[in-house]
Amino acid sequence: MKKKRRIPIPQKAKVRAELQKEISSICPFCSNNDVGHFQIHHIDEDPSNNKMDNLLLLCPTCHSKIEKNDIAKQTVINTKRHIKNKNSTIEFISVSVDSNNCGWIPFENTPYAFKAKYLKSLFPIFNFSFINQSQKTILLTSISLKAKQLPIGLAGPNYPLPNILRPLIKYRIQMPNNNKTVKTLLSEEIEVPKGRAFKFQVELYAKKMDIFKPPFGKYALFFEFEFTNNTSYKTPMILLNSDSYYEELTHIGIN
Ligand SMILES: [Zn+2]
Repeated sequence: MKKKRRIPIPQKAKVRAELQKEISSICPFCSNNDVGHFQIHHIDEDPSNNKMDNLLLLCPTCHSKIEKNDIAKQTVINTKRHIKNKNSTIEFISVSVDSNNCGWIPFENTPYAFKAKYLKSLFPIFNFSFINQSQKTILLTSISLKAKQLPIGLAGPNYPLPNILRPLIKYRIQMPNNNKTVKTLLSEEIEVPKGRAFKFQVELYAKKMDIFKPPFGKYALFFEFEFTNNTSYKTPMILLNSDSYYEELTHIGIN
């Protein structure tokens, strides 16, 4: 692979201050708080990619552990995602599949991974649950979905178990092409009072069923939910596989 050139981070002091705030001045891996000596790590190992999403401030010891692969890249990616979501006023509770109404079931031992099992419906129907932890009523206004076809898949971070809320509403979202994002503005918005949990369903659809047939049927899905008051939430990566193309789901990637 061609090595990319390091590009100095523009407005480095400002970026560093923001990264420091993001981790509350504590190394996200070892709780070291000697923040003056912390270093900026490029998560995708591309030193020219200075986007905030690709940067993580951490102590020099943990930085060198990442370089020696003593801390796995996937752990770093999950940690960054967790830190970002922790600062959101929307709390993610769970995502599951509605196995009563679609042919998909959970994939063994892999969080947020599902497989096609029965020819009940072509596409998965997800149940998403969140809690509005902000001080205001919010509206869910759009859903963005990026789909990535996988050579291999990934395990997400651990979150609490599914709860038992009744879904309020079902949205049908078109499955994007590989590496594309489709943003759907919602005509029926969910209004959520502060402190309230809420649940809704998302049913994927595509023009052709072939999209989930082997060897095409392995996908990583990245949902982002946008609310009013500049609030948004990116869910953990969701993996889809087809039962007849059974392979261990492991995938390394930011998105
Ligand atoms: Zn550390």
